[in-house]
Amino acid sequence: MLHLFDNGGDILVNRLEEILLFNRHFVEQREYEPFETSKFPDKKLVVLSCMDTRLIELLPHAMNFKNGDAKLIKNAGAIVSHPFGSIMRSIIVAVYDLGAEDVCVVGHYGCGMTSIDPEQTMQKMLDQGVSEDTIKTLEFAGVDLRAWLKRVESIPDSVRESVEVIRSHPLMPKYVKVHGLVIDPHTGQLDVVVNGYE
Ligand SMILES: [Zn+2]
Repeated sequence: MLHLFDNGGDILVNRLEEILLFNRHFVEQREYEPFETSKFPDKKLVVLSCMDTRLIELLPHAMNFKNGDAKLIKNAGAIVSHPFGSIMRSIIVAVYDLGAEDVCVVGHYGCGMTSIDPEQTMQKMLDQGVSEDTIKTLEFAGVDLRAWLKRVESIPDSVRESVEVIRSHPLMPKYVKVHGLVIDPHTGQLDVVVNGYE
């Protein structure tokens, strides 16, 4: 590992340079070889999960998938918020073009989306120089920022809702099974919220 980023105040290398420096070494040393696979998910699986840092490696290990096994989609909260947004499009492409047959929505306990406060987030925007006018203009144009940034009250309920959006989607073929799970971000234990085979 490279530790050139912060030298007690003197920044020697920025984050992007640190990544690129490491990357040159990674490619030269052919460290990619253990990861070589195809774009098709060997387990015919799509997983929608949260961007939480604790899940980066824990989730694939706890669910027993590795590079090449599954299509992995992530966002804040593992939420399908729009039936024709980019998350749903990714799932549809995974099913029709990449051969996925099972979809798992995997939320997690202790998700940051259950403690987000739209008012606070908007205050941070103002503090960073976004003007009141910009916010008013967006609201006038029909963007409801408070709803867009709204807190998730219950992860199991939100997983259930996302499963329902996917399962009842007009473009989703009937053979696709959609499951809802909640993972413990410490132990990796999975609780089943919706079993798509039942
Ligand atoms: Zn989360």
